[in-house]
Amino acid sequence: NEEVNIIAGALDLSNKCVTEVMTKIEDVYMLDNNAILDFETVSEIMKRGYTRIPVYENDKNNIVALLNIKDLALIDPDDRTPMKTVIKFYQHPLVFAFDDEKLDVMLQRFRQGHSHMAIVRCVNNEGEGDPFYETLGVVTLEDVIEEIIQSEIVDE
Ligand code: ADP
Repeated sequence: NEEVNIIAGALDLSNKCVTEVMTKIEDVYMLDNNAILDFETVSEIMKRGYTRIPVYENDKNNIVALLNIKDLALIDPDDRTPMKTVIKFYQHPLVFAFDDEKLDVMLQRFRQGHSHMAIVRCVNNEGEGDPFYETLGVVTLEDVIEEIIQSEIVDE
């Protein structure tokens, strides 16, 4: 029954890694730091409907900021505001997690309230060059809670 599933899900958090519940990088809706918040871009953001949107510089591996949908409340598309201006104004904290971070630890970090989204990275030390951070995806509080209640939350 439901209670048993929830308890089982909660107890299992320490056995699961963020990579198992994250949204993979190729499925993450991101925006370019050099974007202009014109009518077209703002409409697209609204159409996608995400609360938090990672913002990258140069390539999608390099996430430098988060845009919150609420940041757009005071934006007039006719002003063609640069993304950089908005990012700099709000400076939402950017939280990172390693690929092997367990869900109980991730939940604790989300509860501390700095951000309800973390960027999942690993250290890539394959190949000749120096090791580098590779971005694997994003994980949100909802991904962790879904794991606890063991069933998909249907979005509003
Ligand atoms: P939202 O409030 O935008 O619906 P949630 O935090 O409730 O986001 O997460 C719902 C699901 O959407 C989760 O699986 C999460 O990983 C995913 N998600 C959140 N933001 C994005 C994004 N920008 N691109 C792709 N998937 C995302």
